[in-house]
Amino acid sequence: MDITALRAGTPGCAHRAHLNNAGAGLLSRRTLETVTAHLELEARIGGYEAATERLDAIEAVPAAVAELIGGRAGEVALFDSATHAWHAAFYALSFRPGDRILTGHAEYGSNMLAYLQIARRTGAEVVVVPDDEHGQLDTAALEKLIDERVRLVGVTHVPTGGGLVNPVADVGRITRRAGVPFLLDATQSVGQFPVDVRGIGCDMLVATGRKFLRGPRGTGFLWVRPETLEHLEPHVTESTAAAWDDKGGFTWREGIRRFTTFEMNYAAVLGLGSAVRQALELGPAVTGERTLALGAALRERLDALPGVTTYDQGRERCAIVTARVDGVPSDEVKDTLTRHGINVSLTSPDQARTEGRDVHPLVRLSPHYYNTEDELDRAAGVLAGLARPGQPR
Ligand SMILES: *Cc1c(COP(=O)(O)O)cnc(C)c1O
Repeated sequence: MDITALRAGTPGCAHRAHLNNAGAGLLSRRTLETVTAHLELEARIGGYEAATERLDAIEAVPAAVAELIGGRAGEVALFDSATHAWHAAFYALSFRPGDRILTGHAEYGSNMLAYLQIARRTGAEVVVVPDDEHGQLDTAALEKLIDERVRLVGVTHVPTGGGLVNPVADVGRITRRAGVPFLLDATQSVGQFPVDVRGIGCDMLVATGRKFLRGPRGTGFLWVRPETLEHLEPHVTESTAAAWDDKGGFTWREGIRRFTTFEMNYAAVLGLGSAVRQALELGPAVTGERTLALGAALRERLDALPGVTTYDQGRERCAIVTARVDGVPSDEVKDTLTRHGINVSLTSPDQARTEGRDVHPLVRLSPHYYNTEDELDRAAGVLAGLARPGQPR
């Protein structure tokens, strides 16, 4: 990878040390121009007419997303967020009293709220699988909890609030053997390192466009294994998802189309397509190796600083690095980094309520492949300054 060229093709790199890729990655110039070109086309010739003119490119986007995650064309539907994609899958399942939903401590907060709502509505039960000694989902405990009551295993691959990478391929082996649907929230992993749906063995996967994938905001997607689709009854319908039959009723359209919506932000869809194509061209294995190495290097730098503690769990850790400076509130650390032109964010307990660690808010630093060692040094330098009492803030 030519990092200098990639940075030159990423406008934000000129202005900030962007260590907030778990929040939103920086758009490449190519993606930015794809989005603005479509908006201009819409303004010039009309929204429907612009969509018609770019129809082939628009229709190629779900197929490109599928390729990126080891799926096939016709297995991906686009949404305006990972949350809405996740809802489309989850609310398409049915639950009865006594059914069980198994999930992990790192489950994304909004997913957990949906489990609780369905539990309240249907009498299903939510069971949080314990963590192992590394702080990741304990797959032996998961296996013991599998029985005829389990209707769904829902797991977050990489949580928003830390460097943990859950052992999802082990989860997939267990759920495939048991014949239980496995819904994977891969929002923080897709784009960060290679994610392969068939290698993992999940049945449904969601992710967002804007984080490590570097797509525009307001994009997300759902992948569903074709065999699983037949068991999903979407919670909402519209004419792109269902077809009238001649008896005045309707049937679901074939395959993933039952989850599609008519209205879309096509400029953002095309931007997502651009970001995905760029990820495919660079190669997720190549970019992932660098991203993970930068994450490990940053964690190592912070761990070496007296008065700074990192909190990332799991046997395998990714490029999300969470830390605290002794005696300095995390929002103050973030503000100081901002003043130095370094973008980071803060964790909140609401992002994963079941997690149970009383450590938030932490400062979250999340580099991507286009970041440099020099930027990591600058961030570590600011934290080192804050950790030394008597230093100017
Ligand atoms: C950000 C995030 C989401 C939500 O993604 P949106 O596109 O904002 O809906 C879901 N799960 C995880 C783990 C996330 O980090």
